[in-house]
Amino acid sequence: MRKPVIAGNWKLFKSIAESIALVDGLKPLVEKNRDVEIVVAPVFTALNRVSEALKGSNINLAAQDCFWEEEGAFTGEVAPKLLKDAGCSHVIIGHSERRQYFGETDATVNKKAKAAISAGLTAIVCVGETLEERESGRTFSVIETQIQGSLDGIPAETLANVIIAYEPVWAIGTGKTASDDQAQEVHSFIRGLLSRLSGVTAAENVRILYGGSVKPDNVKGLMGQSDIDGALVGGASLKADSFAAIVNFNA
Ligand code: PEP
Repeated sequence: MRKPVIAGNWKLFKSIAESIALVDGLKPLVEKNRDVEIVVAPVFTALNRVSEALKGSNINLAAQDCFWEEEGAFTGEVAPKLLKDAGCSHVIIGHSERRQYFGETDATVNKKAKAAISAGLTAIVCVGETLEERESGRTFSVIETQIQGSLDGIPAETLANVIIAYEPVWAIGTGKTASDDQAQEVHSFIRGLLSRLSGVTAAENVRILYGGSVKPDNVKGLMGQSDIDGALVGGASLKADSFAAIVNFNA
């Protein structure tokens, strides 16, 4: 059985005080939920204080990016082991906004994912096609290239420390969710691909999240699909009540 994961990506929103207020509001709304792996990803500067605020709760902490080196002359970068030090258990890697605005490639995603796993973090690796790629019938080839490149050289036994997030770029922050069937079709393709690359057992155990305008009113349909194991949530994770409603989709 794959434990569902609901992860909130706060992007570049919220000060330290606002981040703490958000988790303080969220904790009582989700405290009874032991069936879902709950993750929040605040900005770097809030990580450590949010980690203190999350102590003893059932909510895990993620960073939104990391670097692949442990230390050195790399101004502005943050190493995975420092994210661990700040209290993180997860890290989002290769989000489409990083691919689009900061030159992230499958090769850099791959280095970051390996470094994150070596540091003991769970890597949430994002993939997804643009609207133009979908409309020209290239969705599966784009996803295949991204998955192969991002996970290159990661052995099957280590895939337990990887969560895939399928996030069609055209659905992120647009209010346009992929239909349940559209999402399931790509999730099933990803699982089949992982099965060819890493074996059936590893593929059956990997959690594959859907991301792209997930809201309280569409989460249940998505989570009802056999290969959708959770959600990566942007906008709706910025308010305790809407994120809790997504986390508690089965209540
Ligand atoms: C995201 O940031 O990964 C995301 C899916 O955003 P939104 O839920 O706002 O579309």
